[in-house]
Amino acid sequence: MDSRPLDVLREVYGYDAFRGDQAAIVDHVVAGGDAIVLMPTGGGKSVTYQVPALVRGGTGLVVSPLIALMHDQVQALRANGVRAAYLNSTLSAPERAEVERAYVAGELDLIYIAPERLSNPAVTGLLQRGRLSVIAIDEAHCVSQWGHDFRPDYLALGDLVERFPGVPRMALTATATRATHREITDRLRMPAARHFVASFDRPNIQYRIEPKADARRQLVAFLRQQPSGSSGIVYALSRKSVEQTAEYLRAQGFDALPYHAGLEAGMRADHQQRFLREDGIVMVATIAFGMGIDKPDVRFVAHIDLPKSVEGYYQETGRAGRDGEPAVAWMAYGLSDVVQQRRLIDGGEGDLAHRRRQHAHLDAMLALCETVSCRRQNLLEYFGEASGACGNCDTCLTPPETWDGLVASQKLLSTIVRLKRERNQAYGAGQLIDILRGAQTDRIRQLGHDTLATYGIGADLSDQDWRSVIRQLLARGILVAQGEYGTLALGEPAGEVLRGEAAVPLRKDVIGRTGGSSRTRR
Ligand code: ADP
Ligand code: ZN
Repeated sequence: MDSRPLDVLREVYGYDAFRGDQAAIVDHVVAGGDAIVLMPTGGGKSVTYQVPALVRGGTGLVVSPLIALMHDQVQALRANGVRAAYLNSTLSAPERAEVERAYVAGELDLIYIAPERLSNPAVTGLLQRGRLSVIAIDEAHCVSQWGHDFRPDYLALGDLVERFPGVPRMALTATATRATHREITDRLRMPAARHFVASFDRPNIQYRIEPKADARRQLVAFLRQQPSGSSGIVYALSRKSVEQTAEYLRAQGFDALPYHAGLEAGMRADHQQRFLREDGIVMVATIAFGMGIDKPDVRFVAHIDLPKSVEGYYQETGRAGRDGEPAVAWMAYGLSDVVQQRRLIDGGEGDLAHRRRQHAHLDAMLALCETVSCRRQNLLEYFGEASGACGNCDTCLTPPETWDGLVASQKLLSTIVRLKRERNQAYGAGQLIDILRGAQTDRIRQLGHDTLATYGIGADLSDQDWRSVIRQLLARGILVAQGEYGTLALGEPAGEVLRGEAAVPLRKDVIGRTGGSSRTRR
């Protein structure tokens, strides 16, 4: 085949030029080299394996776990005159037979296959009867047992090197920490691959994270700051919260629509269409919304619940500002998020190792929330990228004040210790704060907590201040939340704090407009 990559790009896709690393990747693969491609969502990964497949002749094999995406890509390719097809569980037997025939006859430029099919000898046998030009493994981070998307079927993909020697292989992902990157290289057996690592920075996105006091009011205040006609997504954790928030926003005059997997299919499609076509729609959604949605002018992404991992946060916020124009990623997060997420992990499925990984993912997310330095720097560092302070995040724009939280932390920790030691009791944040602040509630009197030595020793701080302290100590593992009620206990580093051997610098919370704390909590 003598068609040159740039000609193919222009003729088939109608693009003028390659972007970023695309040309280098395509040249390398066309020449027969293996490649590991780390590129953020929207970076243009598809072209990097589709063009080599078209230039090299034969059929390009694309391994993809997302059936809906597979379908969309094949449709788009066919519309551009590319001979593409897929093999997955949605095909009928005759349809599958026709795809197989076309492949063996050399009539396909690209064939998309779900990873689980490749552990079937009949499928690999079939592939050996045709001629592969390139093997592209999309969403390659699914091979990582550390990651949040692990798929066992990916582990077998390393064997493809033996079945198809001499066929260049590519592993592509938009999610890669250093550890995942290493796992991809090892497990897919690509030691000689060239690595193409694009920057994960999205300079036009402004990152803002604020402590949660009254999430809905804070959200409304944030939305009112956005230019009118701005489209955006509000992510919430549960379907119920999605519906209630959408309703609340409508009542406040916003053009808000709910979106989650429990909605009737017709309504879901309708809401998605309106979001894509109209201006000024606020889509309130669970994370089910957004995959494969190509809307370049999403002006903001707001989170009213804490994402489970930095990868998730990055992917979700990355749906903003794909057109390169300024966009905002805003989030409100609080003590209850930390308690809830820890509880979900501990009460969830999987073995101890799995839960540990989930806690580690959450820890990284919390570190991003609590950082007193640049958010972007923290985010990029997570993906193994060094950078300076960005000047376009909340901590850069208004550097947070810190205060010495050692004494306050000791007061809190020793209250927990005394309750445990003297009375064998454990409580959640509310009761502990009442004890510290010397509140005169019925519960305090009934439980005799007003006779504790630490009763009232924390009256210098407000209820809100104490919540901030507890949240930050939870984020650092100095406190741990336990059981159904989120009772608080000491974490490993608590000993050092109690002995005064560790400094506890804390962030001074600045909350949108909702200040003020109620003294009485009867
Ligand atoms: P990814 O798979 O990395 O998320 P895609 O391959 O879906 O990204 O590409 C993202 C968007 O960028 C698509 O809308 C695609 O049409 C566009 N795109 C990709 N490469 C180019 C290019 N060289 N010139 C113009 N647009 C491009
Ligand atoms: Zn910054």
